[in-house]
Amino acid sequence: MKIAFGCDHGGFPLKEAVFAALKNHSDIEIDDLGTFDREPVDYSDYAIDVAEKLSEGAVERGILICTTGIGMAIAANRFYGVRAALCEDVNDATKSRAHNDSNVLVLPCCHVKPEGVQPIIDAWLATEYTGRTVDGMRHARRLAKLDTAKRLSELACLAGTDPEVHAAIRRHTVQEDTTINLIASENYASRAVREATGSILTNKYAEGYPGRRWYGGCSAIDEVERLAIERAKQLFGAEHANVQPHCGASANLAVYSAALNPGDTILSMSLDQGGHLSHGSKFNVSGKLYNIESYTVSPDTETLDYNAIAEKAAQVKPKLILAGASSYPRAIDFAKFREIADSVGALLMVDMAHIAGLVAGGAHANPVPYADFVTSTTHKTLRGPRGGLILCREQYAKAIDRAVFPGLQGGPLENVIAAKAVCFREALQPEFADYAAQVVANAKRLGAHLLTKGFKLVSGGTDNHIVLVNVGASGLDGKTAQEALDDAGIICNKNAIPYDKLPTSTTSGIRLGSAAVTTRGLKEADMLKIAGWIANILSNIGDSNLRKRVRGDVIDFMAAYQTP
Ligand SMILES: *Cc1c(COP(=O)(O)O)cnc(C)c1O
Repeated sequence: MKIAFGCDHGGFPLKEAVFAALKNHSDIEIDDLGTFDREPVDYSDYAIDVAEKLSEGAVERGILICTTGIGMAIAANRFYGVRAALCEDVNDATKSRAHNDSNVLVLPCCHVKPEGVQPIIDAWLATEYTGRTVDGMRHARRLAKLDTAKRLSELACLAGTDPEVHAAIRRHTVQEDTTINLIASENYASRAVREATGSILTNKYAEGYPGRRWYGGCSAIDEVERLAIERAKQLFGAEHANVQPHCGASANLAVYSAALNPGDTILSMSLDQGGHLSHGSKFNVSGKLYNIESYTVSPDTETLDYNAIAEKAAQVKPKLILAGASSYPRAIDFAKFREIADSVGALLMVDMAHIAGLVAGGAHANPVPYADFVTSTTHKTLRGPRGGLILCREQYAKAIDRAVFPGLQGGPLENVIAAKAVCFREALQPEFADYAAQVVANAKRLGAHLLTKGFKLVSGGTDNHIVLVNVGASGLDGKTAQEALDDAGIICNKNAIPYDKLPTSTTSGIRLGSAAVTTRGLKEADMLKIAGWIANILSNIGDSNLRKRVRGDVIDFMAAYQTP
């Protein structure tokens, strides 16, 4: 085991005894970070050095000494993953291991004599943490609560600087922790992703691209952006990646402006059937600049009818065909889209904003081999920071890069790009494939159980993370359903269904997604429970007492599933 050691001049008199005691343990390697004599120094320097090493995983344990031990303990405990315990005797050392899983031993020189060091060190090294045993489960539960509190302590400084914003964020933190989030476009980013997003890289201007910046001082920034680009290419098997778009909509606009001239024809999925605002809505710049033609789903199967799309393409001769949607619960056949595009000499663009995480984890086919351009968000199933991404063939690389900057954007958000790099790294791990598979399994179970309860699903089921429920068929509208579920702490959104007769302000559907709850660790059996609550509430829409009861059950239920 590797142990980092640090003391100040007040703790120096015990140093020799500590090293002698450690020598009696054969498997210990000491990283001696000082101090080396009685010359006065600042205890915080040594505590920080030891705690940083531990926090970064360079060592497994730490030992710190100062006069009272108090300063060392306070300093070390500020670091992530550090549990520094001030121990005066063998009993303290044993308990700090068994109950608190202490990983830094802090000795007070004023209370511990050199001859007392050996038994304390022996006890601290020999005692196992009991939190992983049935008997010690209460200790694990108590430690886990510190992890929950960590989400709030991340805002420690903001509380003093801006109490109003702090209070609002705190309120949202409680909402996240105590509700079931079924919003299909949302997820919970990891702490690592959030740390990068909140990092000091927000301070830097870096117009341009790695190695070709308009500002000085970009060497670390270049490294961060290169990492993001390389990982994105590796993750999706792409020839070129642009990681600068601020969001999915601006990634789409960048592709249009690189590939099209104003007035050119785009063939995309109709917005009211599952397409996206940025695919040609008349309220969006895409609908104002380009001639938009739409394809629909089949009224019978409510799935994409590739023959009908091919016919439509032959008829309107688009310059670009756009595949991808915001509320389509079925797998998309990119090979078919390629065939259709080739049959009319159109470019093929795929917007995989919703399914990017499933693609990354191998739970949905990858559009990259088929499409000229692939756009995405990074914050939906991909579970990264809020942002956009463009992948394309090498032949379009220059045009895409120029379209993003200087075409549409100024300085890139390098803090967010760092977080995208972290997200891609996470998605490259084998565990992410398990996650993606679980997302799909959870959505399937949720949908299947709603079907058995008599609800109608658009297309009859799901292949991805989305379950689109036709609540109109149950005599409800989407808005009413959304609000009733909201009351019970089950968060989702009203959503138009294909050929919806109600206006977009009410709609006949609700869209449920499994990406966020799967991140919290929910499995198929949990989805059954959630589907039961949803069915019960929607079948008894006038029963506010039921909603109140379920609200309580939801809070208890979700307490067992940590938000990252
Ligand atoms: C969410 C979404 C977008 C837009 O993402 P923003 O980051 O909100 O701009 C684009 N396309 C599709 C298909 C989406 O679902």
